[in-house]
Amino acid sequence: VRVLFADQHGVLRGKTIVADGLASVFRNGMAVTSTLLLKDTSHRTVFPVWGGDIGFGAGLLTGAGDIMMVPDPASFRVLPWSPRSGYLLCDLFHKDGAPIPFSSRSILRKAVERLEAGGRRLVCGLEVEFHVYRLDDPKLDHADGGMPGSPPQTSLLSQGYQYLTDARYDALEPVMDALRRACLQLGLPVRSMEAEFGPSQCEFTFEPDGAMAHADAMMLFRMAAKQVCARMGLHATFMCRPKVENGMASGWHLHQSVVDAASGDNLFIPGTDGVLSTTASGWIAGLLDHAAETCLLTTPTVNGYKRYQAFQLAPDRVQWGRDNKGAMIRGLMAPGDKASRFENRVAEPAANPYLYFASQILCGLDGIERALTAPPPVESPYESDAVLLPKSLIAAIERFETSGFYREALGEDVVSYLTRIKRAEWDRYLMTVSEWEQREYFSLF
Ligand code: GLU
Ligand code: MG
Ligand code: MG
Repeated sequence: VRVLFADQHGVLRGKTIVADGLASVFRNGMAVTSTLLLKDTSHRTVFPVWGGDIGFGAGLLTGAGDIMMVPDPASFRVLPWSPRSGYLLCDLFHKDGAPIPFSSRSILRKAVERLEAGGRRLVCGLEVEFHVYRLDDPKLDHADGGMPGSPPQTSLLSQGYQYLTDARYDALEPVMDALRRACLQLGLPVRSMEAEFGPSQCEFTFEPDGAMAHADAMMLFRMAAKQVCARMGLHATFMCRPKVENGMASGWHLHQSVVDAASGDNLFIPGTDGVLSTTASGWIAGLLDHAAETCLLTTPTVNGYKRYQAFQLAPDRVQWGRDNKGAMIRGLMAPGDKASRFENRVAEPAANPYLYFASQILCGLDGIERALTAPPPVESPYESDAVLLPKSLIAAIERFETSGFYREALGEDVVSYLTRIKRAEWDRYLMTVSEWEQREYFSLF
């Protein structure tokens, strides 16, 4: 049984226990090293899941004690693509039983509890875009967890846009079929699949469910997509804007409505005049008010900021519009419509689902508690005078780092921890020289 937890990047890590050892894992938890290699093969800082002696030098191993993975029994699944393997998702604790404040699943749980304490629940629906490549050399991305030595060059589908054509969907069908079956066997509430704009790009959508259920589902979905595809000689990536000719970026759209926890009534349904409900107005206003400082949680990679461009059905500024896919928040609220909701289009699919969803709850709740009201919706999102989203990861880091709101809502420790990890990622990025820079400057100067 694979005993796993979601690290601070929303990447699954852990160990595998033989079936006979499982009872002891349920009784005592399973130890895992708290502070480990600071870079993995993708040069991403992976640990610590717990602070202590953090150095960010090249490949440093600092001393490390153990922490405990404590499985959530409800998460148990048999992995359809590896039917002799079970799956268990864990929460992290210190050996003395104290919770680990940096554990992203605990951060979401706390946010959900805060919302529920006020008699409200968030209902989410997911739209997840991703790219699938045929690997030149299928051996490159094998079960050692390593990334391909170089990005796979061959796209699964021919170049050019064929948005939503059935012909393109049919070309994708072998992958879609394998993924859909895996999802259904895992009990994931998959709803629809489609061929997206870009070459090799597709989308899965999921039926509405609670925030924690869907954050857990996203962990399983990304795992399934990558592992099922790898078995077919393919590579599924949730990287936002992979390098591919005519490429389109992938977004992760989160449909949201807030319901009354007792009655289940949707609190986003507008009155007969169509004016936003007080709850919807406050929730949207909170998300807009904190959008820039939230980007680190919704768009945590260097690459994710290459998506915030005009005229690509992605947002580039902080605003909302009615059924407008160029706006950050797309309102889908109508009088009498029980499915009244909005879609936040700000996130990239590589985001840590727990931190992403927690940010939505904290911001929305803050908007309600401060009785904020949403500004009027925009008609032409790419021409409005709304403020722009951060242009780069470092801009987002700086906004998050200085955010009084997040220092209060998540705690000083969590903010400085995430900031430190992400600064190290940015610094590593600055150490590299891109092909673009080489072309632009090498012969000119
Ligand atoms: N790929 C677009 C994005 O980055 C969204 C396209 C769509 O609306 O489906 O969010
Ligand atoms: Mg889409
Ligand atoms: Mg969408």
